[in-house]
This record gives sequence, structure tokens and C-alpha cells, in this order.
Amino acid sequence: MSFASDVKNELARAMPDKQCCRLAELAGFLRAGGAFGRAKDGGCALTLSTENPAVARHYKKLLKECFGTNSNLFVGNHANFRKKGHLYELCIDESADAEHILRETRVIRAGDGRDIINEGICDELLKTRCCRRAYLRGAFLGAGALSDPEKGYHLEIVCDSEVMAGDLKRLFNGFADIRAKVTSRRGRFAVYIKNSGRIADILNILGAHGQLLKLENVRILKELKNRTNRINNCDNANLDKSLRAAEGQLGVIAWLRDGDALSSLPAKLRATALLRLANPEASLSELGEMSKPPISKSAVHHRLKRIEEIVAKRR
Ligand SMILES: [Zn+2]
Repeated sequence: MSFASDVKNELARAMPDKQCCRLAELAGFLRAGGAFGRAKDGGCALTLSTENPAVARHYKKLLKECFGTNSNLFVGNHANFRKKGHLYELCIDESADAEHILRETRVIRAGDGRDIINEGICDELLKTRCCRRAYLRGAFLGAGALSDPEKGYHLEIVCDSEVMAGDLKRLFNGFADIRAKVTSRRGRFAVYIKNSGRIADILNILGAHGQLLKLENVRILKELKNRTNRINNCDNANLDKSLRAAEGQLGVIAWLRDGDALSSLPAKLRATALLRLANPEASLSELGEMSKPPISKSAVHHRLKRIEEIVAKRR
């Protein structure tokens, strides 16, 4: 099961309490996952499709609760053979029912002698915050996609029209700090969000509280891993630095040794020089511990500096 289908399954389990929200959620789903067809009586039929069986069951129930409509559920394969899995279709074949639903959800409105399809979202459905959340939930269940947080952060809803995508973007951005954007892709339009914190906010807005916890856990683990990596990289950088310093010291001491000049150093400096030569990869504190008697790291540092100064003068 993908993270997206876990989120959709969670959302599909909840029935909105209020009638206003039920209508708004249905409207959002219809705009995202609905299509017109031709009814048996020659009028308009309505088909709602989804790849998720729980979502199909949820909207069958919601159609019944809202409109008393009995929709027929069909399971089939995708028309696009490249797509895997099944397609679940809810069909409303009675044109009177279909038209009533389309009017109530404000997908169509009466114009001059004929019906007009509303291109964007009708504000009448979005008067209260509860309904705005319900509408987004419907749209996400109809055409939403969400990446697995282990792999990346991307949430989007794909729309056929730019007006609809713009309206969804505004609807998202009516909630604090969501900052949704719109992009066009092969003639369609996607409203998307790529920030993990904002995706968490959206799961909260949609009401997927269980999956929100899962997302937060992944975020915390990832953050911890990043921090550990940063610390390791920082340690590696320090290690590189001390190895470079050791190389410099070794060069200087080897120059003294090759010129038979080690014995010319004061006894303490000579002891440290010999220790350094014998232990090229030891850290300064390790050299300090090996010294007889043991000395501090800063004392080792001081002695090595002194040797470097002596050689710099002689060279
Ligand atoms: Zn409401």
C-alpha cells in the first residue's frame, strides 16, 4: 500500500457530520473525478471514477445520504492499458438524478435557455471553513497524488482546466502558509505543494490525522539522520584538518632527520619529534598520552610548533 492510498483510505472512512460539508465534499470529488456521459433516456448521465475501492464505496454512500441516489458500481480496467490496477466507476444513469446532482453541487447552472458548466469552484459551496476543508478533501480523493515521504515531499491535485487549478490554489492558500502553486503539464494543470511542513498542514486540513502522525515520524527520523550526517561530515572535516597538519609536521621532522639534525633539538622537542615520526596518524592528544611523562594536547601542539619554527629559521 502506498502512502497516498493510506491517506485516501483514512479520508474515505469518515462521513462528514454536516449536510453542508457532505455537499461540498461531493462537489469537490465530482469536479476532480467526475465525467459526463449519455443516459439511457438520452439525457445526461454522470460517472465518478477512482482507482481506490474505499473511495468508491464512500461516494456511493455519500450520494445516497445526500441525494437518495442509488448509483451503480462497476469495476473495470483502465482505458489506458499502461496503468495498473482497477478502475472503480460509480454511474448515475437516470438523467433526472444526474442533473439534480450537477445542479446542487454547482457544476452546472441555468443560463439563457440552456445549462452552463461552471468552470471554477462556486463560492456558494465554500462559505464556511468546514466546507472549504470538505471541498479540498473531495478534490484530493478525486484527483490527488501524494509521494511517499520516505522518498520525497510532493502533493498535487490534477485538473483539466486552468481556472479550476487556480481556484483550488486559492482555496488551499486561504489556509495559513500553504503556498500552493500551479503548473501545466501536457495540457492539464496541477496544483502542488512540495514542502514537508505544508504537506503535514494539508493532511491536517483534510482530516487525515492518522497518516499525519506517520508523516511526522518520517520527518523527525529524516531530520535526525541529516543532523547526524552533518555532525559526521564536520568530524571528517576536522580529521582532514588534523591529518594535513600531521603531514606538515612529518615533513619538517623528516627534513631534520635526513640532515642528521634531530640531535640538535632540545631533549623534550626531540622526544616529541621521534614520537611523531613513529606515529604519523596519531592525534595530538594521543601523542600527549604516549609521551613520558604524559603531557597535554596543547603542550604537544606547542612543541611541534616550536620544531616548525626552528626548521623555518634554518631552511
Ligand atoms: Zn460545512
